[in-house]
Amino acid sequence: MPSSTFSKRLFVFDFDWTLIEADSDLWVAETLAPDLAKQQEDLIGKILWTELQDLLLQRLFERGVTQQDLEKTLHRIPFTSEVIAALRLMKSKGAELCILSDANTFYIDCILKAHGLEGVFTKILTNPAQFDSQGRLHVARFHGLDKDPHNCPLPCQPNLCKGQELQKLIDSQPWDQVIYMGDSTNDFCPSTRLQSRDIVLARADLLLEKHIKMHLDMVKAQVIYWQSPADVLTITQNLFDVSPLPATVATGTVNSKPVPAVSSAYMEEVPVSL
Ligand SMILES: [Mg+2]
Ligand SMILES: [Zn+2]
Repeated sequence: MPSSTFSKRLFVFDFDWTLIEADSDLWVAETLAPDLAKQQEDLIGKILWTELQDLLLQRLFERGVTQQDLEKTLHRIPFTSEVIAALRLMKSKGAELCILSDANTFYIDCILKAHGLEGVFTKILTNPAQFDSQGRLHVARFHGLDKDPHNCPLPCQPNLCKGQELQKLIDSQPWDQVIYMGDSTNDFCPSTRLQSRDIVLARADLLLEKHIKMHLDMVKAQVIYWQSPADVLTITQNLFDVSPLPATVATGTVNSKPVPAVSSAYMEEVPVSL
């Protein structure tokens, strides 16, 4: 079955180290206050990441960092032309695009706007952030303390179970195919929510790959590993049958089942990771 027969696709993306080539929280800390970034490292695991970022923003505010400083810093985060081209291609083909991230609304909106991508995503689900009247940015938990805990048994933080949120997106419409793209531990839970016709685009050599390979029985979807933004563009072009086959692609699949959304010619070109 040619991949173009898929008519209604939902793409859901993690943000840090998936769409952008950095972690936006760390980028801000390391750029504006390297000493605080170092201190922050010692607190990882002892305090919820979202709360740690809110503390950092308080300290930055006390040092005189303004909204404009934050914006200038965020505008310099690497967002490659290949990933931007892939997103535009998906959108032009009628796919629905959403972001599911543990960053925050201000960072993501600011970065997307800097690259003219603000109209590309239907939904951006992430920790809410807003400036108070003094100009201090506050970040809160997506899954707030006013709600019952999500109680996810998988490695999700208390402020966000990406699997639960992805499930709501999946259930919102009858999709022909759902594609989830991520790189880290909290991208494993959503990867388990996909069905066999769906695809996980996992960044190679990072924690999502490790979790998938430790729990292969929990992931029904096809898994394609990608290394670089150029791979993301190539995979997208193949999903939509829009370009000649590349000479080399550094991706693979962990399952022996055929990948329905990728042409067989493409699969023959792909070295298998396992
Ligand atoms: Mg990430
Ligand atoms: Zn979860």
